[in-house]
Amino acid sequence: MRRFLVVCAGLSLGVASATAEPIALHGRLEQGGIVFGTVAPGTGVTLDGRTVSVSNTGRFVFGIDRDAKPSAMLVMRDESGVETKQVVSVAPRDWLIERVDGLPQSTVTPNPETVKRIRAEGGLIVAARNRTEPLPFFETGFLQPAQGRISGVFGSQRILNGQPRSPHSGLDIAAPTGTPILATADGVVSLVHDGMVLTGKTVMIDHGFGLDSVYIHMSEISVEQGQAVRQGDPIGAIGMTGRTNGPHLHFGISWYGAKLDPQTVMAALPAGQDILQ
Ligand SMILES: [Zn+2]
Repeated sequence: MRRFLVVCAGLSLGVASATAEPIALHGRLEQGGIVFGTVAPGTGVTLDGRTVSVSNTGRFVFGIDRDAKPSAMLVMRDESGVETKQVVSVAPRDWLIERVDGLPQSTVTPNPETVKRIRAEGGLIVAARNRTEPLPFFETGFLQPAQGRISGVFGSQRILNGQPRSPHSGLDIAAPTGTPILATADGVVSLVHDGMVLTGKTVMIDHGFGLDSVYIHMSEISVEQGQAVRQGDPIGAIGMTGRTNGPHLHFGISWYGAKLDPQTVMAALPAGQDILQ
């Protein structure tokens, strides 16, 4: 018997085919959420046209972007080519408006030279997100990677030095410089950067099946690109490198390009709970 953590509120499903039963989806069907389920081994799955990785036992996982539309289309194609469509309703969320003042103005409105560098560095992050391991490392669940005060939540509309900017894409954990940072889940280090304009010392870990975590503003990094890490392994320390006004870890989780809420992911797939077996 599977022990799924069922925390989806207001889940509503529909199917295009009258004969097929909708498959059960678990996790959080909401903006910034994470969803998992099981299909017959060998079934291909797509979400709004994007291929969803399926393990050889039929397990799959997908993320829902902060700005996802109210519904998405899940298509399952069995080994004989028969397709089943399932409409997935995505619950909307309300986001905070967060004002951050006291940032160096040059990082809020950078000069053209710096804009170029920021774009190039952003390209490295996007490339790391698009590469993914075929192994379901995320099955370890996700733990909070550092202890400290939650100083910023996911999704907030940010107003930096009075100017509206992109929504906050992660969870901020404030703690003194030097506080250890641990790998949130098993995986492979997919990016190490010693000093990006916005994110400073930056680490990314690939947890397989399109899921990645990112750790930014670090003071030191103790892993190398390509290194395999286990959940809870130290990867570096909290700092204030890049665009920040105080020492904290910005911790992000994404599924390919979709930004997920780390608090939702940690609640839906907690560390040490064998919910996918
Ligand atoms: Zn942050």
